[in-house]
Amino acid sequence: MLDRLTVLGHALNEGGLLFRDRAKLERHQSRLATEHLRWAAVHSSYTASRFRQAGLGVGQWRQLPPISKAEMMANFGTLNTAGVTLAEVLAVARHAEQTRDFSPVLRTPGGEITVGLSSGTSGNQGAFLVSRTERLQWAGVVLRHLLPGWPAGLLRRQRVAFVLRAEGQLYRSVGSSRLHFEFLDLLRPVDELAERLTAIRPTLLIGPPGVLCALLNAGATARPERVVSVAEVLEDADRAALEAGFGPVVEVYQATEGLLALPCPHGHLHLNEAHVHFDFEALGNGYVQPVLTDLRRRAQPMIRHRLNDLLVLADGCTCEQAARRVARIAGRQDDALNLPSASGTRLTIWPDFVRGALNRVADLREYRAAQVGAATLHLQLDPDAPALREAAEREMRSALARLGVGDIELMFGPLLADWPGAKRRRVVQSWH
Ligand SMILES: [Zn+2]
Repeated sequence: MLDRLTVLGHALNEGGLLFRDRAKLERHQSRLATEHLRWAAVHSSYTASRFRQAGLGVGQWRQLPPISKAEMMANFGTLNTAGVTLAEVLAVARHAEQTRDFSPVLRTPGGEITVGLSSGTSGNQGAFLVSRTERLQWAGVVLRHLLPGWPAGLLRRQRVAFVLRAEGQLYRSVGSSRLHFEFLDLLRPVDELAERLTAIRPTLLIGPPGVLCALLNAGATARPERVVSVAEVLEDADRAALEAGFGPVVEVYQATEGLLALPCPHGHLHLNEAHVHFDFEALGNGYVQPVLTDLRRRAQPMIRHRLNDLLVLADGCTCEQAARRVARIAGRQDDALNLPSASGTRLTIWPDFVRGALNRVADLREYRAAQVGAATLHLQLDPDAPALREAAEREMRSALARLGVGDIELMFGPLLADWPGAKRRRVVQSWH
């Protein structure tokens, strides 16, 4: 059972954390950071050793060399403060996925810990822990930012439909008579899901845009007050289709690494800076990669953690919030292509760029572009017609030439179906 008053308390408290003054927001962050980092250095031995190895005091945390998912996983047992091993977490999470039990929980001396696995190719999968306290906090923040018509919306009956993968269930479980949460299992047939969604008549619809579009195409009808796009990059074409079919769309940037950005009343995405500290590494052409420090998360401290995502930031917002604005989530670096340049060096080609080229091909419904060799791209097209192959080849070659990419081979084929429940990725790096 979830403590509704606690969630509501967090939601109300959140109102005081919508800073308009950047200096105040930064003072708030540094207060949280001082307390949190001190706690983490005492309770997480891996975190303590990072400070020791870098020769830094806890107060110098912003200079700590970032770690990535690989290092987090390699040191899982000494990084987490719940005293659980990676083997225990993997066993519980995998069992839960097989049995479709979406609230896998590990009981520890410190309390219940929800476990989750992030999607990712084998060897690249992340394991994540969230304590009960953290779950309540998360629910409060989400409620405050996403419930239509806050705070009056609390007084009306709300039906929230979540269409999520198993790992999304890390954050299931907010429920009461007024606030009803319904979970639609992504592994069910899409026609069945569409029927169920129509029957629920959600006031708030939350899911990955690819799946929501598929439900729309399968005949689902719903008029939620708000559609929330999560877990995948929201592309303009999908946004337009969802707005026409269901209603207003907002985007939430939630990863297993944390709740990273939330929409403001003006429909723009702002970093969740009241709870998470962000530094950014510039990667050229306006793209940045976040290094995040979660200022509250204790079960699995996320400190100077480099995210494999690529963002484009924007200047200010008409809503006047001090939290920085994300113009676009441009893709995951894991999916970036690595192609030879005309002069023989290697170039990184971001997924966003490939999408831009293929989105210019008229009449192309769907596609996947995969790098399958050192200089070979496989383009799966739907429909797979000779004229579309020609147009796709033209757009790709001219786009790649502009970036200085040298001679590459393009192969074509029809679009193959995703694995059930797989994250939809239009640009895939499968060459290593
Ligand atoms: Zn705004």
